[in-house]
Amino acid sequence: MLQPGSTIGMLGSGQLGRMFALAARRLGYRVNVYSPDNDSPLGQMADVEFVASYDDLDQIRDFARTVDVITYEFENVPAATAQAAEAIVPVRPGQAILEVAQHRVREKSSLRDLGLPVPKFEVIKSVEDLTNAVGVIGTPCVIKSATTGYDGKGQAVVKADSDLAAVWNSLGTKEAILEQFIEFETEFSMIGARGLDGSFTSYGPIENRHHNHILDVSLMPIAYPESARQTAEDALRTVMAKYDVVGVLCIEFFLTKTGNVIVNEIAPRPHNSGHLTIEACECSQFEQQLRAVCGLPLGSSRQHSPAAMANLLGDVWEHGEPDWSKSLENPSSFLHLYGKTNPRVGRKMGHLTYLDKSSEQAAIEVARLRAQIARR
Ligand code: AMP
Repeated sequence: MLQPGSTIGMLGSGQLGRMFALAARRLGYRVNVYSPDNDSPLGQMADVEFVASYDDLDQIRDFARTVDVITYEFENVPAATAQAAEAIVPVRPGQAILEVAQHRVREKSSLRDLGLPVPKFEVIKSVEDLTNAVGVIGTPCVIKSATTGYDGKGQAVVKADSDLAAVWNSLGTKEAILEQFIEFETEFSMIGARGLDGSFTSYGPIENRHHNHILDVSLMPIAYPESARQTAEDALRTVMAKYDVVGVLCIEFFLTKTGNVIVNEIAPRPHNSGHLTIEACECSQFEQQLRAVCGLPLGSSRQHSPAAMANLLGDVWEHGEPDWSKSLENPSSFLHLYGKTNPRVGRKMGHLTYLDKSSEQAAIEVARLRAQIARR
């Protein structure tokens, strides 16, 4: 067990790392960060900052020697980087889940092999493969590049009249996956934490509403049929046990009109949809990540207040610095800013969490507040 006072190494320096560090600092841990970026959300507050490429294995080894355990806040950590670090200190969650989470073909195949419900899919390596697969799966369907796609990037909906050669060329990738289009009713996530001793706890379902392929609002609790919640929790337990995940893992699901649950994707780290656990639950997703990777007992995931979270994208800055007083004067509103300069459209700059009598009411209030904050 790594006691308070130990040093955690974080690969990646974005807002997920920053919120992890806030939880870790409260419990007396030190946090060293490694990432290629200067003046980053976590770099601004880490104990020691390494600014270098993930491919610089000598630097990675030097970094690993300064910490007691390593975790990460994004899943595209190169395999060689994780291996070099793992030769010196534990990396949690380990390599097995990283390999699965960073490649959509491996991800979907392993989920299917575990017996979990995934959309029908085919592997695509050429425009010929695409033509054949569209014949098998039917239209509409969704093509996604196998690597480095997130927030809807590197993907396209294929329709009956789509020009398949143009679709394939626009992806600019060597390998992709073609998926059946799911006519979902809603999207939701479940977030699990698994300890060094195999103990398990989870949050959710958390309902996720997207705008322009980016998460817009999340709310919890949500009254889905118990069978849907159970299927989702079983999926979390299955994946985390199979890959011996020590840490936090999120699964995003589709819920169909007929109540079927289908797995969309997994992320072996805290997730944007779980930010509301900071104010709404006894122990947040970030503290669970800390507890898990340090071998501490997991905390209580119990939710004590209905909540909703709204992302603050760079768009909110369109007409100048937002009017924060609208949030700060409201005791039900909790403002988080990630220390980023340069508010580009679509860039996650911060979020608002709102606590209320019901999560639906919180979702209405948080959206209203975000609109009030933006200058016109
Ligand atoms: P992803 O990057 O896989 O999370 O996809 C981003 C968003 O695209 C999802 O949140 C869905 O709204 C939509 N999407 C992805 N895959 C499918 C699918 N197979 N059927 C319908 N919508 C999808």
